[in-house]
Amino acid sequence: MPDVLTTCTYCGCGCNFYLRTRGGQLIGVIPCHEHPVSHGSLCVKGWNAYAFVNSPERLTEPLVRKSGTLQPTSWDEAFARIIDGLNRIQRKHGADSIAFLSSAKCTNEENYLLQKLARAVFHTNNIDHCARLCHASTVVGLASTFGSGAMTNSIAEFENAEVILVTGSNTTEQHPQVASRILRAVQKGAKLIVVDPRRIPITKWATMHLKQRPGTDVAWLNGFMNVIIADGLENHEFIKSRTDNFEALKKTIEKYTPEVAEKIAGIPANRLVEAARIYSRSRKSMIVYSMGITQHTSGVANVRSCANLAMLTGNVGRASTGVNPLRGQNNVQGACDLGALPDVYSGYQKVSDSAIRQKFQKAWGVDDLPAKPGLTVVEIMNAAADGSIKGLYIMGENPMVSDPDIRHVEEGLKKLDLLVVQDIFLTETAELADIVLPGASFAEKDGTFTNTERRVQRVRKAIEPIGNSRADWKIICRLAERMGYARMKYSGPAEVMDEIAQVTPIYGGIHYDRLERGWGLQWPCPDRNHPGTPFLHKGKFAKGLGTFIPCEYTPPDEVPDEDYPLILTTGRIYFHWHTGSMTRRTATLLREAPEAFVEISPEDAERLGIRDAERVRVSSRRGEITLRARVTTDVPPQVVFIPFHFYEAAANVLTNPALDPEAKIPEFKVCAVRVEKV
Ligand code: SF4
Repeated sequence: MPDVLTTCTYCGCGCNFYLRTRGGQLIGVIPCHEHPVSHGSLCVKGWNAYAFVNSPERLTEPLVRKSGTLQPTSWDEAFARIIDGLNRIQRKHGADSIAFLSSAKCTNEENYLLQKLARAVFHTNNIDHCARLCHASTVVGLASTFGSGAMTNSIAEFENAEVILVTGSNTTEQHPQVASRILRAVQKGAKLIVVDPRRIPITKWATMHLKQRPGTDVAWLNGFMNVIIADGLENHEFIKSRTDNFEALKKTIEKYTPEVAEKIAGIPANRLVEAARIYSRSRKSMIVYSMGITQHTSGVANVRSCANLAMLTGNVGRASTGVNPLRGQNNVQGACDLGALPDVYSGYQKVSDSAIRQKFQKAWGVDDLPAKPGLTVVEIMNAAADGSIKGLYIMGENPMVSDPDIRHVEEGLKKLDLLVVQDIFLTETAELADIVLPGASFAEKDGTFTNTERRVQRVRKAIEPIGNSRADWKIICRLAERMGYARMKYSGPAEVMDEIAQVTPIYGGIHYDRLERGWGLQWPCPDRNHPGTPFLHKGKFAKGLGTFIPCEYTPPDEVPDEDYPLILTTGRIYFHWHTGSMTRRTATLLREAPEAFVEISPEDAERLGIRDAERVRVSSRRGEITLRARVTTDVPPQVVFIPFHFYEAAANVLTNPALDPEAKIPEFKVCAVRVEKV
């Protein structure tokens, strides 16, 4: 069989490569030199993206719990039990007693179909996915300031920037293609400012590395803006013609002098002044951020502050400028775009808007779509624990590793009357399920992913689904059909995309025949003749005028005290991905990073009598884990770092489920912990 061109299943860069097969099995990955993002280079995860597909641990049959154990069953019995269980729960407890978790690993078409199933067939808006845990603050923060909650510019544009401000993004390890563009810009003379509590690999190339205290981003961003206004470096013309509410911002910013910002954030005032001047004096300054900005109780305020900074200096709406949230998972952008969120249909069209609801009712052939927004991820888990959610259908997510306060999640999942998990492996969450459905990996199905720069790209089938597994879109459609719903019969994902284009203005011109001809299309792409949009807000913001929304600094929900004197921050490492279900089944990656660790500063280690590689206990108010210490100057004193990929020492046993009030994102990036020798 010829090599099959497809899109990587790991990060939001969206590299393309060819899958090579022999005898119906994947045997390797070949880079694609023409692709505009990857240009023939891949990171170690991409090179190994075929290995987990052949794992002997793949789920090959539906499983049903009988006498306490999961046993193989037929698709027929599995569907019958799911429908009977969900119907029974809804009859007894109402439509909103069940919920769905969709998947940033699955295709656009699958995410669209699962939210359609939840809304049109089961009459609930209780659908969400892991974007809630990574970029919900971006969606809310950028929509309210710019009118669109997505990365404003394209990956290729980094190369031509004059100044790049990276904050809360371990870019080299998590978005290697973006990092390589930033490096090329630096080699061409661009200035790189990194604001991060840890010494991460990209700081090697930085003109300045400012180390803020975790959870103080509003303070230093306001400090930047204070310097810019004090120096008269704001862009008066841009502010006047493109924005509103500037006076309110100015008033708030007044009190965040560099000295006040230093007191809160710990960045020396003179360094902050220098960095603010560098950022504001350039006409091509790009802001890059990721979960270090979003995963806070002040996540939305952090994002709005980045948007305020860009508007203040007129660095938005042109090439090589903008505010660029890097999306983590391969299709987290697409899962949001396609409506796997509790308050919007595809294209961010609000469920509470009656005209929009009527449009979808007509398109889907129903007359009773629910108007009330549903529950978010953490709210679903809380509702499971308090008994108000009784049934949960999870497609391709693993909350037993990914969600904050895992013991609480476990309590909720165990209380459910029915837990259905659709996945490719028996994950830690699937182990608790009543019914497990075997889905197909990215190599076994057709569809599309949308990368972090809004590029919708093809995913192509290279091999047949393993064993008796099925493509996820087929599973969802069959379930709808068994429920008696006739409007989810499709010849294939191309037809699903045609329906998406019909009801989703930003995807209006995206069809498979166009995707076959090039390297995808960047939304907004409103009609068949539109070429796609490399950067947003040219001439006018998506909402008309951009709005300055002043933000006050508020401390994190949990601050260190005598019992828990250190700040824990969490994140990913280069060799693993998310909950590890794929990378930890890939021998090369496992060899490079076999186990969990906690990074601790030499000062804290000495004070606690801890030596490098010793086993230590890390505890928070929610639980404790045991793992190996890595003594390193990469973290500053009073801060420890744990990667969240390892179930046996899951960082999220410790993390705080306190939420940002608007985005409902948990504060993964700051909680108070204690570290002790075991
Ligand atoms: Fe895959 Fe991201 Fe690596 Fe590219 S950079 S190969 S998309 S994981």
